[in-house]
Amino acid sequence: MPPPECPGLTPAQEKRLKLAVEGTCELCSEYFALPFLDIHRISRRQYREMKRDPSTRILVVCHLCHDHIHHLPVPVRQQREIVSRRSFFVRRDLRRVFGYRPRPYSPPEEIDVSQIFDEYFTHAPPGPFRLSG
Ligand SMILES: [Zn+2]
Ligand SMILES: [Zn+2]
Repeated sequence: MPPPECPGLTPAQEKRLKLAVEGTCELCSEYFALPFLDIHRISRRQYREMKRDPSTRILVVCHLCHDHIHHLPVPVRQQREIVSRRSFFVRRDLRRVFGYRPRPYSPPEEIDVSQIFDEYFTHAPPGPFRLSG
């Protein structure tokens, strides 16, 4: 058996990563029992736009696809496309396994405050609510 590619991961973390993608291979989208899935680490050397988020550095793949990634090989660009197509929930769950928290979201400058209040008032009856400040 080859050595694990992500030596920093505990078996429990690996299992949670596999569960986060609901036991499906991220390359062929087939469902597999967890022992038939691997954690592939996207090549660090070529991954120039490396982000701090560790979940963007791995793929959960079946044994066959994992072989393909290394022997065909599947271009890093394509591996990154898979990462960027992940759903919000998969991304969130993967990050949790790594204990990674993205920086708190800061709203863009041009946010339209009046629109937010419009939305509030269409969903809630006017009451004792007062604008503070
Ligand atoms: Zn696969
Ligand atoms: Zn690999």
